[in-house]
Amino acid sequence: MSYRLTQNEADAVFAELLKKFDIYAPHRHVCAGRYSDDDIVKYDKVESLSDVEYKKKSDYPMKEVISPIQQALFYFTEDEYRESKVSSRPILIFARPCDINAQKIQARIYAGNGGFTDSYYERMKDRVKYILMDCEGGDDNCFCVSMHTNKTDNYSLAVKFHEDGSLFVKVKDQDFDNYFQEIKEIEFEPEFVNKNELKVTVPVIKDHETLNKLKAHPMWNEFNSRCISCGACTIACSTCTCFTTKDIIYGDNPEVGERRRIESSCQVDGYTTVAGGISYRKTAGEKMRFKMLHKFHDYKERFVDSDMCVGCGRCTARCPQFISITTTLDKMSKAIEEIEKGEV
Ligand code: SF4
Ligand code: SF4
Repeated sequence: MSYRLTQNEADAVFAELLKKFDIYAPHRHVCAGRYSDDDIVKYDKVESLSDVEYKKKSDYPMKEVISPIQQALFYFTEDEYRESKVSSRPILIFARPCDINAQKIQARIYAGNGGFTDSYYERMKDRVKYILMDCEGGDDNCFCVSMHTNKTDNYSLAVKFHEDGSLFVKVKDQDFDNYFQEIKEIEFEPEFVNKNELKVTVPVIKDHETLNKLKAHPMWNEFNSRCISCGACTIACSTCTCFTTKDIIYGDNPEVGERRRIESSCQVDGYTTVAGGISYRKTAGEKMRFKMLHKFHDYKERFVDSDMCVGCGRCTARCPQFISITTTLDKMSKAIEEIEKGEV
């Protein structure tokens, strides 16, 4: 069932939802962006509908609600430890289709991958329901249509905001019916983007020989001088899951503290360093090659039905060196063409 809510009705429903749920949404932080007058939009716990930034795609992904950039795993003393706790309150998240579909990818990595389930991810994921936000095509870095992540039916409510403060809502999950009992029904179905400014074709690597030649292709050398291995692209990525751990010691006694997990990146120095100081991928070009093939080949080889990218374009937008993931994909396609023609 669908409804049109006036601003007052929408505020009243939101206030009711807040009694039961922690609600997260993209939120605008004024003048907190990269440059002095730039805003930044990232996910936060919100207390009213006016806190929700519905026009601009968030600069950072929705995954931060479910798998925070850093979190305590457990606390320890000399002879015991205690696992960290999280609230048991259910969570509602305002999200666009790309971010909701990114969770399908993350869940596969965190839950049950190789027979191991990440309990810290599971305990958050199990609390979450989605409010699908209307998206009118994103920005000039988006390519969700090419990645088939422009649509989803994984939501409890779908909303479309209007400038006058009114709200169209579709209620898909009957658990929410009672919040709308006093409101007159209308016809409303969420619409999905069918075209982005950017169109991308993910290259097909048809066999191991092509893959090995692509790994050795000179195209990756360009990144040795361009990419500064800062990892900003992966921190902004809707699907990346890599993390490291760090022990925080509280005082003079090194046996008392907490173990944190902190998001990490395949792009930063030290990521592949192992015992003896050996590092498997030293150059920025090697790291970029790993990232691209992981996202656009290896994940699909393992899980079959999708690449590990939802086309949100955040990596391109956040890169201080203006390295575009779609241009890099085009370069990969060109390199594969050269390999197949026997030119390299
Ligand atoms: S690789 Fe880039 S475009 Fe793809 S999901 Fe990650 S941030 Fe978005
Ligand atoms: S591609 Fe850009 S954002 Fe990613 S590590 Fe290199 S310089 Fe940083």
